[in-house]
Amino acid sequence: MTIRVDAAGAADVLARHREVTVLCHIRPDADALGSSSGLARALRARGVTVHHSFDPGVVPQTLGIIPGTDRVVPLAGVPAHDGLVVTLDCASPDRVGRWDRLADAASEILVIDHHGSNPGFGSHMLLDPAAASTASLVLDVLEAGGFDVDAETATSLYAGLVTDTGSFRWGGTGSHETARRLLSAGAESTELTFALLDAHSFAWLRVLGELLATARLDVDAVGGRGSVWLAVPHEVILVADEDDVESLVSHLRGVREARVAVLLKEYLPGEWAVSLRSRAGGAAADVVDVSAVAAALGGGGHPSAAGCTMHGDLESVSARLRELLR
Ligand code: AMP
Ligand code: MN
Ligand code: MN
Repeated sequence: MTIRVDAAGAADVLARHREVTVLCHIRPDADALGSSSGLARALRARGVTVHHSFDPGVVPQTLGIIPGTDRVVPLAGVPAHDGLVVTLDCASPDRVGRWDRLADAASEILVIDHHGSNPGFGSHMLLDPAAASTASLVLDVLEAGGFDVDAETATSLYAGLVTDTGSFRWGGTGSHETARRLLSAGAESTELTFALLDAHSFAWLRVLGELLATARLDVDAVGGRGSVWLAVPHEVILVADEDDVESLVSHLRGVREARVAVLLKEYLPGEWAVSLRSRAGGAAADVVDVSAVAAALGGGGHPSAAGCTMHGDLESVSARLRELLR
């Protein structure tokens, strides 16, 4: 049984433990690594023994700008112990990867997440789909527990907030209020956001041009709302930076003629990480709930940003998605 907790309740769970394993989702983004780094640092300042990891545990180079990611250890090196495991930004147990060994040994598991698709897991769960980022929830927990939020912790949390809100284009007043608290605590924004949101190699420009030339538009899809598609084959994945590949979806999202964007990334031969994006606009002001499409394929996410993993050749994977996005 999972006990639902608020920020103060989550802080109470943290206060019960002297050894804590802090995990975030596989193929982590800045919210996963930012929220976990901030929590890990605040716990260490309290004298808690912290194992900060994810599966498998190699931090992508660009996310290395986030303070605290230098202390991430490989998941295989984390000892099983009977303390606490905290999972951050993980919409389901699958998203934590191969953590059974650690979950089985732990006396308590605290889930902190903001995905509406989360079915609920762990012994305790702080789940708020209205939160702009998991990092926002971590800040609430740290404040509720009287933890020190120094400039480094604030910068880690800010990384999650600024990326998950699309640089504050969505997320509402709550996200700006969280930003105010983090900047007041000394969060660094300029270098961080350049590295996370803007920087790429010169070589990427050529690859980007060639890839974008292969994008396809289907104006009749999703009841006439339109969809835009791009597939990144494994050969390209092999020579590109992962964060550059992940950034492609923002180009698709901007296509006026399409309300739904589909990015297919063949990270392993025949295995596609699918990113779905949806936005309001045009005559029908509704947002197509792409998290429902992702959930139907074993994934999840938010109504306007979701993902799943699919297997097969590009034609069969695309056909299944097209069927769900008619
Ligand atoms: P992405 O397209 O990878 O940036 O993911 C968009 C949103 O969907 C993020 O909030 C992810 O956490 C979530 N998401 C992506 N892939 C999955 C998955 N396989 N299962 C559950 N949620 C996912
Ligand atoms: Mn995430
Ligand atoms: Mn998130």
